[in-house]
Amino acid sequence: MTCAPTQTPDAIDIPALREKYRQERDRRLRHDGQGQFVAAEGDYAEYYEADPYKPVIPREPIRDEIDVAVLGGGFSGLLAAARCRQAGVEALRIIELGGDFGGVWYWNRYPGIQCDNDAYCYMPLLEETGYMPTKRFADGAEIYAHCQRIGRHFDLYDHAIFHTLVEGMRWDEDLKRWRIATNRGDDIKARFVILCGGPTNRPKLPGIPGIHDFKGHKFHSARWDYDYTGGDPTGASGRLDNLHDKRVAIIGTGATGIQLVPWLGKQVKHLTVFQRTPSSVNHRGNTPTDPEWVKTLQPGWQKERQVNFHAGAIGGFAPGQSDLVCDLWTEINRNLQAKMQAAGWPQLSPAEYGAMYEREDYLVMERLRGRVDTIVEDPATAAALKPWYRFMCKRPTSNDEYLQTFNRPNVTLVDVSATQGVERMTADALIANGTAYEADCVIFASGFEVTSDYEKRWGIKRVEGRGGVSLFDMWRRRLQTFHGFSVHGFPNLFVTGYTQVGLSANVTAMLDQHVSHIAWIIGETRARGAVTVEPSRAAMDAWVRIIDETKVDMTQYQRECTPGYYNNEGEAELRSNVGEPYGPGFDAFDGVLAGWRDQGEMAGMMLGR
Ligand code: NDP
Repeated sequence: MTCAPTQTPDAIDIPALREKYRQERDRRLRHDGQGQFVAAEGDYAEYYEADPYKPVIPREPIRDEIDVAVLGGGFSGLLAAARCRQAGVEALRIIELGGDFGGVWYWNRYPGIQCDNDAYCYMPLLEETGYMPTKRFADGAEIYAHCQRIGRHFDLYDHAIFHTLVEGMRWDEDLKRWRIATNRGDDIKARFVILCGGPTNRPKLPGIPGIHDFKGHKFHSARWDYDYTGGDPTGASGRLDNLHDKRVAIIGTGATGIQLVPWLGKQVKHLTVFQRTPSSVNHRGNTPTDPEWVKTLQPGWQKERQVNFHAGAIGGFAPGQSDLVCDLWTEINRNLQAKMQAAGWPQLSPAEYGAMYEREDYLVMERLRGRVDTIVEDPATAAALKPWYRFMCKRPTSNDEYLQTFNRPNVTLVDVSATQGVERMTADALIANGTAYEADCVIFASGFEVTSDYEKRWGIKRVEGRGGVSLFDMWRRRLQTFHGFSVHGFPNLFVTGYTQVGLSANVTAMLDQHVSHIAWIIGETRARGAVTVEPSRAAMDAWVRIIDETKVDMTQYQRECTPGYYNNEGEAELRSNVGEPYGPGFDAFDGVLAGWRDQGEMAGMMLGR
């Protein structure tokens, strides 16, 4: 499939819009930044640790010695375990808090959940497992089933311990192993550890005064309470029979809220949507997979599609390059390509290209604001639903029923931007703009610890390397890695995710790059008869210097955004949700890693026996 550029307005006043964006940001900036949220610990630990989907079966503590521990059983953990198995690792354990594989796709089962990205790119290992998604934006249940499929395909179930929370780990220099302590009393001694926590691992709650006081029912979107709402715990039916006579309030209009609201609107007695910052909501156009298209696919098609999507979402299309994905993520570059084509592909300086890109961003956002007017009937509601910021300030979304839901008589939108959030909760109501909105049930679609401190994100209290040094303390001063994965002073430990790596629009392809490289290092270390591998201080410092020298400075962009987890709630220390990326990008990073492996000396790594 390929597609045409979208119709955007002919004229816009960028200085006026920039000023409007600034005003919208300023009135949302809170002095307490990240501190505004309530962590899922202490009184709220159940929002993270309790499993509403599967009973926890008691078991004896495990005290064994293994080669590799993979912490996390979502896509990164599954890929890590699969690549380790391919590298010949037998004694492997995947330790996972959920009751099965899946990670976010295990936990997030709210009605309406779907992948917001092209499933043919996002769902990993399609060719290896012989699976084809049934539609372009696959349902959560289908993605969860794919996680289970990967687990079976690579024979990982026998290696998994579920319903187990890693509480801490420390390097034992005598044993030359990591000792992993869990909430099940385990003491697992692992030669190597791969941390695969994922970026949206740990739910957080909105810091609303009086949150303790509310006596009705409440839960987080990532721990859906089907016992209360009724419906099918796989999330597949989307039915919520017990809510037909309930007044439901939802807090949060991010990617989760956008998917949930249409389902709730159709099924509850009354729905009150508390919105602090509107998301941009594009046309979705979800379509079933065309079997004729599938027949045309050649081996290697998924990688080719991922490369194309990366160009559309981040890198930019080359002259004549087709947009294979054609969705919300590729719109700006698709439109830009058409304009460059019409202008005969002029030679532009980076500043000129940047200005052209910025204009396209403003045009697309203007189109999306116009879309609200064409759908939402009440002008005041339509005005409140318009997003005033640049495209990637907040995660863009697509949905063909979200905006329409605000035309329903049983749905109320409450704009809480003036008070920077819901003001207060009482025993039976939420207070906003001086009005009490009574509710039987409150759903927190309030997101995850994405840019918070690492111990909050990962949910592991301690990671102590050689000499008891805390990784979290070290990284609080400054993120430091070698190639993004390993850290001096922390032998045999590997991290995955947005830690000084090349950024890809395909998160699962990026994670596969990480874990494939890590599995290679583990395999090589073992093949060379070594028991430890660790970057030298000099190698780590050199990589951090490269990160600094190649940095693409997004500070200005992020500073101009409305607050959210993408820009660390707009705090002075502008920590991005993508960490500190390697400036030249994903493909160049791939080249760095491949070149390093090919050179064969494991340069910068210290091997120990
Ligand atoms: P987000 O962090 O994106 O959204 C949290 C929401 O809660 C925001 O709207 C926020 O408002 C609101 N909020 C927080 N505190 C308050 C308060 N005190 N009063 C009122 N509102 C408040 O979380 P999501 O769960 O929506 O999404 C998180 C991420 O999960 C996504 O960005 C995406 O990466 C992933 N995801 C992916 C999906 C997929 O299809 N692949 C689907 C769903 C989620 P404000 O914006 O003003 O801060």
